[in-house]
Amino acid sequence: MPATMKAAVLHGIHDMRVEDVPVPQVTPERDVLVRIRSVGVCGSDVHFFERGIIGKYPLKEPTIMGHEAAGEVVEVLDEARGLRPGDRVTIEPGYTCRRCEFCRSGRYNMCREVVFLAAPPVHGAFAEYLAWPSDFLFRLPDALSLDEGAMLEPLAVGLWAAKRGGVRPGDTVAVLGAGPIGLLTMQSAIAAGATRAIVSDLEAGRLELAAKLGATDTTNASETDAEAAIMDLTGGRGVDVAFECAGAVPTLQMALRVARNGGTVQIVGMPAEQHPQIPLYEIINRELDLRGLFRYANCYPPAIALVESGRIDVASLVTHHFALDETPGAMTFVHERRDGVVKAVIRP
Ligand SMILES: [Zn+2]
Ligand SMILES: [Zn+2]
Repeated sequence: MPATMKAAVLHGIHDMRVEDVPVPQVTPERDVLVRIRSVGVCGSDVHFFERGIIGKYPLKEPTIMGHEAAGEVVEVLDEARGLRPGDRVTIEPGYTCRRCEFCRSGRYNMCREVVFLAAPPVHGAFAEYLAWPSDFLFRLPDALSLDEGAMLEPLAVGLWAAKRGGVRPGDTVAVLGAGPIGLLTMQSAIAAGATRAIVSDLEAGRLELAAKLGATDTTNASETDAEAAIMDLTGGRGVDVAFECAGAVPTLQMALRVARNGGTVQIVGMPAEQHPQIPLYEIINRELDLRGLFRYANCYPPAIALVESGRIDVASLVTHHFALDETPGAMTFVHERRDGVVKAVIRP
């Protein structure tokens, strides 16, 4: 094993450097060493690169970004835990205390002691190696590529969104925003039984991809009034579940208007504004359920099964690849949405 490895370290806004850092060691807490092969560039990585903060996590010290990762096991502390060198694995990027009320009730994403990749000060996976706990690694079936393994992280968000949103068989849903999270939320809602999925976005290319992946209706908000289109398509009723996947206040406000009476508005995106104007009487008088979402819990096994069975397509979202040295450029590439990029993947 080499002593050092390359990693893409974020030092500050627009200042990411590919540098040599020590290769992590396996410990009783992080008992498996993984050679990283595929890491997706997430909106949150780009958000950190552009603003130096996301939600309540500010960048305080230089931190390796990247949390959507898959690779090969190279070293294990104890083979009795089920993994061996050579295994291909996907990495669930947040591990928890496993003892608190939330961990024990299956809602471990609410654990107060979570350690999450690339959530400063925890280093992420834009690196050649990562040491991680065996119980937050999942062996990939042969049918899944390492890129697909990396894509299971955003898919886990989509599956959790469909579950939190309470999608039921026969439902009509609206997905506002057709980036990677929107496209995976849409596919998850369909897998959960939604028979009608209306997707809106500003980019024609993303809407074409949405239609290919199962959207029954698409509406381009740069050309038409998407809200009117959704109300029209539902005969004025609105949708059972409206998913906000653009991370913007206007789409959150729109979601609150296009949900049917008694419907659900599921927040999936993370608006930069913490105190947006919310139409409270709309929520009260129409008995809307407005639901938050923070990462996911127990979503990796179903994510693997849904991709392996062909029910959900994650491979079509991967449009670009970059080497680890090119990671800083990839941040800007994704931020500026060059060349119709949907998901860029770094291959260390
Ligand atoms: Zn992500
Ligand atoms: Zn816990």
